[in-house]
Amino acid sequence: MTTTNQDLITAMLPLDSYTKELLAVLTQPLTNPKASGEKRKSEIRGLYEKACATNLTTPIINLFDLLLATRKEEEGTPADFGISSKELEHLAFKHQEIDEHMVSVGGRLTRALPIAAAANSRVDEYLSQKDVLVPSGIDKWQQIEKNKARIMAELGMDEGTWNSFPGQIRHAVDSVATLAKLIDLPKEQLESIAKVTASYRMRLTPYYTSLIMPGAINDPIMLQSVPTGEMVGNAGIEIPPVAADHSPARLVDQFYPRVLTIKATNMCAMYCTHCLRLAHIGRKDQVYSREAYGEALDYIRANERIRDVLITGGDAFVLPNSMLKWLLQELDGIDHIKVKRLGTRIPVTAPMRVDDELLDILEESNDRKAIRVVTQINTAQEITPLSRDTFRKLSKRTFAVLNQAVLLKGINDTRLKMWKLCETVHESYVRPYYLFNCSYRNPQFAHFRVPLEVGRDIVESMYGNISGDAIPRYIATAGGKIPLHRSNVVNREGNDIILRKPWSDEEVSYPDADPEVYSNELFAFRK
Ligand SMILES: *Cc1c(COP(=O)(O)O)cnc(C)c1O
Ligand code: SF4
Repeated sequence: MTTTNQDLITAMLPLDSYTKELLAVLTQPLTNPKASGEKRKSEIRGLYEKACATNLTTPIINLFDLLLATRKEEEGTPADFGISSKELEHLAFKHQEIDEHMVSVGGRLTRALPIAAAANSRVDEYLSQKDVLVPSGIDKWQQIEKNKARIMAELGMDEGTWNSFPGQIRHAVDSVATLAKLIDLPKEQLESIAKVTASYRMRLTPYYTSLIMPGAINDPIMLQSVPTGEMVGNAGIEIPPVAADHSPARLVDQFYPRVLTIKATNMCAMYCTHCLRLAHIGRKDQVYSREAYGEALDYIRANERIRDVLITGGDAFVLPNSMLKWLLQELDGIDHIKVKRLGTRIPVTAPMRVDDELLDILEESNDRKAIRVVTQINTAQEITPLSRDTFRKLSKRTFAVLNQAVLLKGINDTRLKMWKLCETVHESYVRPYYLFNCSYRNPQFAHFRVPLEVGRDIVESMYGNISGDAIPRYIATAGGKIPLHRSNVVNREGNDIILRKPWSDEEVSYPDADPEVYSNELFAFRK
């Protein structure tokens, strides 16, 4: 044996029950022996020598695995291959000694590896489908570049105009005639869009238009940006905007004592078909005066409970750099304001807007008080190498970049689509934050709504299967944000709580804190 200090190890840590059982199974005499081939013999001898000669765990595991298979197939016990029980035991001790966490060969082989294999099956279907059925804009980049070339030619844009924000806005697609030139749409659909755009505003940046896949029916980018007949068909009684009951001051919305929003503009680079603020956004673009912002800031200054201010719109990044700089400086100058947020969809609708000057402004403000950028990405197809790079830069200069997605029928309402969205967002330096159940308030997009339970199942399916910080919180907006997660507390038996693992529905018992110990006033240093 090459193992050293064998006696000492034996004294220190006995073999566990998994390993004892494994050894017992291996050395049990055969009932119906079959001859084993020369190949199997030399394979076993080879592994045995490697297991003895090296300080690696893998040859030991592989050897035991092969011996177990051989034993099960009735082709021989270890002794038939010249390995004694004593030698097997020594290898088992050696495994325990090598492994930093003292994992036993029996534990790893008969418990951990099968458990890991069973868990793998939960993601196999996702892995085989995610890049084929729900490609991201990164997966589709070649096609997007082709679309871009075609759109540039049609709109008479050069590379410089394409790469500038004013260029994107100047050439924004706002008529059916232009849209028809850029993407293939059946005649009936064009007529229906023309009907809708008479009452709803359409505007796509040429960049966002390039994300639409030619020939795709119900392309998720198109669904979010091109109004469809349903919007007019559904237009019933619109529930009045909540603004009146939640706007205590000019431009301000406040649901909570510590957080408020400043709706700093009604402009967006593009208009979403599912926009909550449809009525507000749909009107003429407006630039607000410093006087208006001044009144919002005065309200904040006078209310010391407010700690977190969210500058939103519309889209905060539509504001000129000088205005953003001024607003952030004003907020940073208020003692009780400790953190800020900017709400913007521009990194996915017109990433070229995020210039170095803006990044410098964000970093400067972040150095004074933490600033987060809150964005909205609803499908992996919205994330391209360009938007990913923009998020990378934003994440370097700010405290966090967070995503608030809206659960939308046909766009992200399956496990496959949502897992892919959340993983792609995560890989693009953005953390999934909220997933909103699409609001009941606007009848114009009733066709996008997804039942609450469907969203719950999708969100719950992510636990244990994708990284925890890539799982959003599921929310209904109803005069504030109300969490919709399923409770995984199944029952209580005495002081034990029965919990459900969302990924397997397995129930586990979880002893609660002892209420008597908890109520004990004598604690730590006070004893
Ligand atoms: C969303 C929102 C906030 C921020 O809510 P968080 O839960 O802190 O993200 C604050 N005020 C209003 C009016 C909002 O709509
Ligand atoms: S970016 Fe936001 S505010 Fe602007 S249209 Fe889309 S959902 Fe509405």
